[in-house]
Amino acid sequence: MNATVIDGRAISDAIRADLKPRVGALVAAGRTPGLVAVLVGEDPASQTYVRAKAKGSEEIGIHSEVVQLPADTPEEQLLKEIAKLNGRADVHGILVQQPLPSQIHAEKAVAAVSPLKDVDCFHPVNVGLVLIGVPRFAPATPAGVQELLMRSGNDPAGRHVVILGRSNIVGKPLAALLMQKGRGGNATVTVCHTGTRDLAAITRTADILVAAIGQARFVKADMVRNGVVVIDVGINRIADPKTKSGTRLVGDVDFDAVKEIASAITPVPGGVGPMTIAMLLRNTVQAAEAAS
Ligand code: NDP
Repeated sequence: MNATVIDGRAISDAIRADLKPRVGALVAAGRTPGLVAVLVGEDPASQTYVRAKAKGSEEIGIHSEVVQLPADTPEEQLLKEIAKLNGRADVHGILVQQPLPSQIHAEKAVAAVSPLKDVDCFHPVNVGLVLIGVPRFAPATPAGVQELLMRSGNDPAGRHVVILGRSNIVGKPLAALLMQKGRGGNATVTVCHTGTRDLAAITRTADILVAAIGQARFVKADMVRNGVVVIDVGINRIADPKTKSGTRLVGDVDFDAVKEIASAITPVPGGVGPMTIAMLLRNTVQAAEAAS
């Protein structure tokens, strides 16, 4: 089998195109949506993500700002900056880019963002709403995975979905979304992690396999069965002397080998990454509409 490559860029373009008229209506009413990213320190990957989010915002007419703070910013000061943004009527979405430096407790920073402006859907209240099936916002990366499945004709309903990784930003909320009763859900979900025994025996039972572990090309061809649908969330930078920078990005899946067995697969880059940004933008537009 030679897998269909699911084009995350094209699907995210379609979602962004749908957002444009909604942004246009808000701008015309004098309520331009505003998204602010807070970046603490100089982590190069975080800077790249924040730039991509800012560019994506501006392309559809969302006003974007970056609050750049030094790496040694005390926790108190970060919390004050977040409180200021919570109070600004022109700011509808607030992102606190992770990872954060060690003097800052990530969970405190996440909880400091107003749940009404938490377009990442990391705040405990918003996470809880996702779990009980009445979400305020869609968790960006998991919702991006769900949209990719639905829009590529791979409805998870009735399928066995195996998720590799149980982080609070990908694995857990994705499991919560896909197990819900309703459209885009109704899957039977298994979540694997470092405590899982005989991982390959479980991954081989997957109809849909989602890899979100941050281990370059971890999922090999002998870990999946014929016709599996593979969604690769991982973003890993590996050495590659053939490129100008000497590095390149790969996912958590051994793409070249697994695509020979899968029925559909997402590439890295160009799969889940653009979808995460599209979902963030959709949440920001929704937050601005709700604030009106
Ligand atoms: P975390 O490091 O927070 O979590 C990794 C998870 O994978 C943990 O639950 C860990 O298990 C599990 N894990 C790690 N190694 C193994 C292994 N060998 N076998 C089984 N389970 C394992 O990562 P994130 O969830 O934040 O991110 C995962 C990947 O997705 C990263 O590459 C990240 O860059 C990428 N990412 C991509 C996004 C996108 O938009 N495309 C957005 C967010 C993340 P345990 O809990 O037992 O430690």
